[in-house]
Amino acid sequence: MIEDGIDDALLEARLLEVGERLAGALPAGMRNPLKAADDKAMELASQDAELKAALFRFVDVVPACRSLDDLARHLTGFLGEVQEPPPPVAVAMRMGNSRAGRAALGAAAATGVRHMAHRFIVGESPRAALGTLRELWRGGIASSVDLLGEATVTQSEAQRYAERCDDALATIAGAACDWPERPALEQDGAGALPRANLSVKVSALTPLLRPDAPERGKHDAADRLRGLLRRARELDAHLHIDMESLDSRDAVLELVLELLAEPEFRDGPSAGMVLQAYLRDSPATLDTVLDWTAGAGAGRAHPLTVRLVKGAYWDHEIVEAAQHGWSAPVFDVKADSDRNFEALTQRLLDHRPALRVAIASHNLRSVAHAVAYDELRGGDSRDLELQVLRGLGDPLGAAIAAQGLRVRTYCPVGDLVAGMAYLVRRLLENTSNESFLADQAKGVPLAELLAPPR
Ligand SMILES: Cc1cc2nc3c(=O)[nH]c(=O)nc-3n(C[C@H](O)[C@H](O)[C@H](O)COP(=O)(O)OP(=O)(O)OC[C@H]3O[C@@H](n4cnc5c(N)ncnc54)[C@H](O)[C@@H]3O)c2cc1C
Repeated sequence: MIEDGIDDALLEARLLEVGERLAGALPAGMRNPLKAADDKAMELASQDAELKAALFRFVDVVPACRSLDDLARHLTGFLGEVQEPPPPVAVAMRMGNSRAGRAALGAAAATGVRHMAHRFIVGESPRAALGTLRELWRGGIASSVDLLGEATVTQSEAQRYAERCDDALATIAGAACDWPERPALEQDGAGALPRANLSVKVSALTPLLRPDAPERGKHDAADRLRGLLRRARELDAHLHIDMESLDSRDAVLELVLELLAEPEFRDGPSAGMVLQAYLRDSPATLDTVLDWTAGAGAGRAHPLTVRLVKGAYWDHEIVEAAQHGWSAPVFDVKADSDRNFEALTQRLLDHRPALRVAIASHNLRSVAHAVAYDELRGGDSRDLELQVLRGLGDPLGAAIAAQGLRVRTYCPVGDLVAGMAYLVRRLLENTSNESFLADQAKGVPLAELLAPPR
């Protein structure tokens, strides 16, 4: 039995039904996002640990690259360190040995990167993304736009990012007025849901976010974040603050909770933060958030939206901890992250309407668990949002929408150079031996995919 009396066996049975229903609704021909034509890179990376390590190092230099040619040069450099490269990589490196070859390789890399990027990135600017956002909306799928370009190094970059966010809010909110009515996406038990939704990163709003001096970073980001909150309120848009690696977690959490408790933001805007289930201390973080909803954050016009994710920085956290001789802050067994995700899902759903809940996952088991638990609790399905990433979660998003449930796609926007770190992170995450999507692509049977984490 679980806490509120829902029997485990009953929950598993309902979860299986929901999972089968969702799997049956996956659009034909889109069942395996990782089997798409341009997935050769993912396949190669999943087979080769050294290649993967080279890609990780490549991500680190990406922010310093100024052009695609620059990127191609670094990429061949890193791939050159792989002892026994798989054949396509070896061919690429041979090409890199001559001037003509380098030019051809640069062009090929640029084309390949562009092709792959278009799966994950909806446009080079918010304006260029509007067509896709409208199409998604017409198809019953809401969106959250993310402006690519992480971790700023200078004040002018941080200012530029804040200005781009301001412009994105205005562009999306302006266009969204003309979208057709979609009641399932616009209203839940707590009230109206904004059509325009932007996800922002605090590390891009300040160059000063450092674990050794968190107050400086918080203080520096606060004014820019306040400006964006005011703008979102004025435009009736939702502002979501993403969570990054653990070294900034406490500063980001404190910043968000402090700002949203300020009197000027009591009436809006609608806003949210992210809880990462791979962190061992995430249940305590949820305690902090729940205390806030009952204390300083009580009585806000829009309940805080909590997006639950497993977490995108797993390898980084493991390596960082090993380098310092610390014990890892993340679970090291995948099933522990999955189980914690389910426990947090239940707690979040149990604490509505103090919170709005968004479950972000491409794992059919994790998603079916949330829907099944909510159904058994007798929840109103409008009070559960499911979220997926553009390019990875498109089939699942379509299946969720086809069930009449609310789904939102996270849509990165930006140029390809800015998008490289994001792209490679998605590539690495999904070539991991412990990724649900990789298992699904390998053809693991549905019953196994939906089985309890172990
Ligand atoms: C809409 C949306 C928004 C997102 N926003 C954020 C964000 O703000 N911050 C953020 O960090 N992430 C964010 N993510 C990314 C998210 O964290 C990853 O997509 C997610 O971790 C993949 O999980 P899954 O449930 O889809 O897949 P699964 O395949 O079920 O899970 C993979 C995840 O399990 C964990 N894992 C893998 N191996 C192990 C192991 N050995 N031990 C323990 N745990 C392991 C990792 O977190 C890995 O990413 C977002 C995702 C979505 C869909």
